[in-house]
Amino acid sequence: MTTEKMGFEAEVSRLLHMMVHSVYSDREIFLRELISNASDACDKLRYEGLTNGELLKDNGEFAIDINLDKENKTLTISDNGIGMNREDLISHLGTIARSGTSAFMENLSGDDKKDANLIGQFGVGFYSVFMIADKVEVLSKKAGENQAYLWASDGIGEYTISDAEKDTNGTQITLHIKKDADEFLEVLRLKNIIKTYSDHITLPITLISKNEDKDAEEKENSERVNDGTALWARSKSDISEEQYKEFYHHVAHAFDDPATTIHYRAEGKIEYTVLLFIPSQQPMDLFDPARKPKVKLYVKRVFITEDCEDLLPGYLRFMRGVVDSEDLPLNISREMLQNNPVMTSIRNAVTKRILTELEKKAKKDAEGYNEFWNSFGSVLKEGVYEDFSRRDQILKMARFESTADNGLTGLDDYLSRMNKDQDTIYYVTADSLAAAKRSPQLEGFKAKDIEVLYFTDPVDEFWLQMVPEFEGKKFGSVTRGAAELDDKEKNKKKKSKPELDALIAVLKTNLGESVKDVRPSNRLTDSAVCLVADDDDMDMHMERILKMHNKLDGAASARVLEINADNDLIKALSKQATKDGSVDTLKEASQILLDQARIMEGDLPEDPVGFASRLSNMMASSFK
Ligand code: ADP
Ligand code: MG
Repeated sequence: MTTEKMGFEAEVSRLLHMMVHSVYSDREIFLRELISNASDACDKLRYEGLTNGELLKDNGEFAIDINLDKENKTLTISDNGIGMNREDLISHLGTIARSGTSAFMENLSGDDKKDANLIGQFGVGFYSVFMIADKVEVLSKKAGENQAYLWASDGIGEYTISDAEKDTNGTQITLHIKKDADEFLEVLRLKNIIKTYSDHITLPITLISKNEDKDAEEKENSERVNDGTALWARSKSDISEEQYKEFYHHVAHAFDDPATTIHYRAEGKIEYTVLLFIPSQQPMDLFDPARKPKVKLYVKRVFITEDCEDLLPGYLRFMRGVVDSEDLPLNISREMLQNNPVMTSIRNAVTKRILTELEKKAKKDAEGYNEFWNSFGSVLKEGVYEDFSRRDQILKMARFESTADNGLTGLDDYLSRMNKDQDTIYYVTADSLAAAKRSPQLEGFKAKDIEVLYFTDPVDEFWLQMVPEFEGKKFGSVTRGAAELDDKEKNKKKKSKPELDALIAVLKTNLGESVKDVRPSNRLTDSAVCLVADDDDMDMHMERILKMHNKLDGAASARVLEINADNDLIKALSKQATKDGSVDTLKEASQILLDQARIMEGDLPEDPVGFASRLSNMMASSFK
């Protein structure tokens, strides 16, 4: 028999070091992790078995056994699930493949106490056994394969893998319990832990221990510990908050608390039970490009798959939990799930219910809803352009910051605050709230007390393209088109300033193709200049996003340069512009004005080196 010694991946070693020296007080979670893995392994085999019946030939009923051997101070957890072969053991138990565990590692601070609390928050899966065991042996045989393997480690630096004997498929994990952890060799304690964390596991969990009374007829005590009725199948009134929470941790592989729990049974033509959770924290995979929903599909209490894209739309992919159908056949395959009419109607009904629950929350608990929005709003908003039938509903649920500086606001509330004669919902798009707030184009709107929404999510640019208006009011960017901020009278007055006209002419000549137009601004009150997009050009922020993603054909469109007639610099330049030869004397200044406007947009000057040398020249001459 060959035994091979292998080193853990560096990250795992670090993690194990923490486990071995753990000061985390809830060490009992190790059992929850092992039971959860065993249950997952059985679910996997059952699912594989749907298409490959051979695998289930000798399997019997799926079950989890826990053997307590007090004398030898070991605890053994066995399952008859999918099992692991050599490669599986190396990659699953020797590296950190799991996003939850990597997230845990990223959050480590180096302070033992603080980091210990993270163990509870993120969970560390299998590796948590090293909090209570100083040696662990994993004996496993993969379903459908002949060779079994033994993985063993003391959690320090290395593990060994050797060929081994095992009759049945599945995994058997033996923990040699540490001296200071002998509480986990007590039947009552173990029963208590299983009840607390794993009562909802649908497989029977049996605790087997040697009879302490040596004269007794039965050498062993064996007791089924968990209730095992699927939690979602019980009635709401029988389920405690704590049980919901534990179930959420199990089903979502998450360690935050659910922010909202939705549990109901649909009866009628199509019957199903729903137990769904909205997490309180963003799951790590929320922005995975695959955008797959993560809700698990069960049929009559039997796990089918968690890889079911038709169960919920992508914009609800933050939801976690279970949908259990009474109408689908048990042997349904992945292919059969696609475009299945039962699935379609479940998807519609469940989507509707989730949105209704969120609307209720928004009404009843605005603060809680805003928290939800901050975590998941940018995902839900994808529904505005993806789900035409629910566009208006989702738009109403959207929240934005605004110049009113009152925290998040909805579009309905914006409308209710709008000025009487205002027919446009004004917004400014930017990469961040800070950048949006700095936009010079807002100056005039603020002065006129017109509220402007900050659209700071890249997804905003996309739905805006498809949604021209809300409740009859059109959306209007403050960085695009002419701002209708002034009454006609004042406009006329501005136009009749010959000095300003002279400056505009000079700027047009000097800037040429770099600008589309130069015109007096009525959206500026302080800044000298700003850039805006012309009415039929693409909004500037959108153009920047596309440029960033290399999605822009050809050059960016030239912008309109707006100048503020009331600004001191513009006044001075205007005076200069009426003098002879002003096109030449104002050449440098024209360029600097344009570059200044670009910089305020967060862009670079067209020629940064040229800009710096122009600025230096100007500064030098002003200090002469
Ligand atoms: P997670 O369960 O979140 O993936 P764990 O650290 O708990 O992370 O387990 C790591 C991996 O090891 C699992 O994803 C699974 O592939 C494998 N594994 C653990 N326990 C078992 C088991 N009893 N049977 C089969 N595979 C298992
Ligand atoms: Mg696990």
